[in-house]
Formats: sequence, C-alpha cells, structure tokens
Amino acid sequence: MAKKDYYQILGVKKDSKADEIKKSYRRLARKFHPDVNPNDKAAEEKFKEVQEAYDVLSDDKKRKVFDRFGYYQDNLDPDSPFGAGAAAGGGAQGFDFSGFDFGSGGARPGAGGSSFRDIFSDLFGGSSGSGVRPEPEPPRAMPKRGRDIEMPLALSFEEAVTGLTTNITVNRSEQCSRCQGAGDTGGPVVTCTTCKGSGQVQRTGGRLQFSQACPDCEGTGRRRTPCSLCNGKGVTPKTEQVKVKIPAGVDTGSRVRIPKKGHGGRLGAEPGDLFILTNVGKHKFLERKGDNVYVTVPISVSEAALGAKIEVPTVEGKAQLKIPAGTESGQKFRLRERGFPSLRNPSLRGDEFIEVKIAMPRVISEETKELLKQFEKLNPENPRKAMGLD
Ligand SMILES: [Zn+2]
Ligand SMILES: [Zn+2]
Repeated sequence: MAKKDYYQILGVKKDSKADEIKKSYRRLARKFHPDVNPNDKAAEEKFKEVQEAYDVLSDDKKRKVFDRFGYYQDNLDPDSPFGAGAAAGGGAQGFDFSGFDFGSGGARPGAGGSSFRDIFSDLFGGSSGSGVRPEPEPPRAMPKRGRDIEMPLALSFEEAVTGLTTNITVNRSEQCSRCQGAGDTGGPVVTCTTCKGSGQVQRTGGRLQFSQACPDCEGTGRRRTPCSLCNGKGVTPKTEQVKVKIPAGVDTGSRVRIPKKGHGGRLGAEPGDLFILTNVGKHKFLERKGDNVYVTVPISVSEAALGAKIEVPTVEGKAQLKIPAGTESGQKFRLRERGFPSLRNPSLRGDEFIEVKIAMPRVISEETKELLKQFEKLNPENPRKAMGLD
C-alpha cells in the first residue's frame, strides 16, 4: 500500500493538536465534498483521502501507529518493540469507502449505519438528517465598496460666501467587526431571510416597484447562517459626528464630497463617500447669478444731479460707491471682485452689479414746494423735447 503522509494531506504539523486537525479536516472536507463538486473525480479522490487521513489522525491509537510506522494498519501495535515488519503481511487496508455512494444525484446511503450522514451533518449542519438533499455551496461574499451617502445641508447666503466648517450627524455604517463584512461566519447553509428564499427583493424607485436580485444571497435564496452581529448585512450601523468643510462659493445644488464617510465597505473594501448637497438661503437685497451678484439701489435727485458717495450692500456687508454728477436713473455700476469666490478657483471672484434708481422727491412742506417751483424756473428743461412734445 502506498504510503501517504496524512499530516500533509490535512495540511497540519506533526505535533498539531486534535482540535487543529479537526478544524483543518472540516475545511478540506467541505471544500472537496462531492456535493460541492458534482461530477468532479479529482475532488472526490481528494475527499476520500482527507477522510482517510482524518480517520487515522483523529483517533489517538491509530495516530500513534501512524506516527510509529509511517502508515496505518489495523494489526499494528504502536508499542511493539519490533519494527514495522513484525506485523507486515496482515494486509488489512483499514479503510473502505464501498459503503459510500458518490454517484451524481443518486440515492444517499440508507440507514445502514453509514457514517456519511454524520460527516455531512457535521460539516453542513443538521439539514441532511431529514433526508433533504444537501445543497451546493452558496456564493462567497466579495469585497464591495460601501454605498455613498447624500445629505442636504442648509446654509445662509453669508456662509456660502465665507465657507463653513461644521459637524453633522451622519447615520452611516461600518464593516462588521465579527465577520469582516462577509455577512456570515461560515456556519450552516440556510434559507436567506432577506428574500425568504425567493432570491428577489422589491425595490421602490420613485413610484415604480420592481424586483431585483437579493443582495444578501446574490439571488440564490440561500446563504450561510447570517452573522449574528450584523444580521448578514456585513456592516453595522454607526451614528457619527462628521466634520464637514464647505468651501467658499457653494450655491444651491452644489455637491461637496467628504471622502470615505459613506457606508462601510465589505471584506476590506473602501467605504463610500459622503456627499453634502448644499441649499443656500436668500439675501434680502442681493441676487446671485453664478458668481456675480446684482442689486438695485435708490438714490435721491440731488445725489444723482450733484454726485455723491453712497453706501451699497455687498456679500461682505456695506461698501462705498461713488456716484458721479449727472447720473441717470437705471445707470449701472460695477464693483469688481465683490461677488462670490469661485468654487473651481478660490483666487477668482465674481463682480457686483449695482443699478441706481432715482427716488421721487416727496413734497413734505410748503417750503419744499416753493423750492421745487423755483428750481423749475431756474432750469427750464423739457425732458420730452427729443420726442417733439411739450
Ligand atoms: Zn457580521
Ligand atoms: Zn436573499
């Protein structure tokens, strides 16, 4: 009989403890199990080999024999003072798979006491005991980047000018610390609870309802027993205070990206990003168009006629504007670089455009009435002259 190194087959060291051997065996047996690898002769051979190795190494007495002689036979005595030759010739193979039926889809071994069921239920959980055909391995979870989160943030007109640093509360998630985002810890296969085994989940998009492959079982309807910490989601919820820096110049509808503060990734993949969607309040007088601002400011007749220095509102409070003598109503002035900072290039700024409107002087006394009459006499102008009208 060919000498096989059972330790090598199970991938364990010669001095490995029983539980290490068992762990390694379970992993390999699951990997090469005929139900996981239907019609795969090589896997079947490997499975038998693993089984054989474990049969010997899991039994203290048999293991002792193997350690002593380098192979196992029923009739060998590990404590014998004689060498291997002493008992040679017994010829017993010691291991027989004839009771196992690895046929594809064929009947499972009957109640004839085969250890197959025990092995099976040990490996995959209790489902095989009831005669239910064991099912193939569910898909393994793949590393997946976390989803992005979008959150609205209202800020004042002035805050949009200067930019803003603030803390906001984000309901995000993090990779599960128990399963590292796999969603399971390698337990038995069960029906997916998310989709109740259908493999499909309902999603709502606007007013439409549509079904989609279940993300928790990749549409198979089955999965390993979900991780008890994250319920199989692979991520656990986390409410976090996130410091967000809103740059100067944002407008309503600007998207500010805060890297890696979205939902947690799975199996080591990166978290998603957090996007702040800004909503900028209005100013009492100033109107914004892009990075420029517009305002209409009233001036008096005498200011228009004689010229004046007046105050105008800007994005950063009041500023002075010089009105030249003879200014017409509706005339426009520009204050360069008094608009919003550019989001793309913070060293650039928009302008402010000021339109002046001459306010009608109110007659508040007999005296002002007289003065206006006198003014009329001294300045006999007809403003409709160019139209040929009196
Ligand atoms: Zn988990
Ligand atoms: Zn599912």
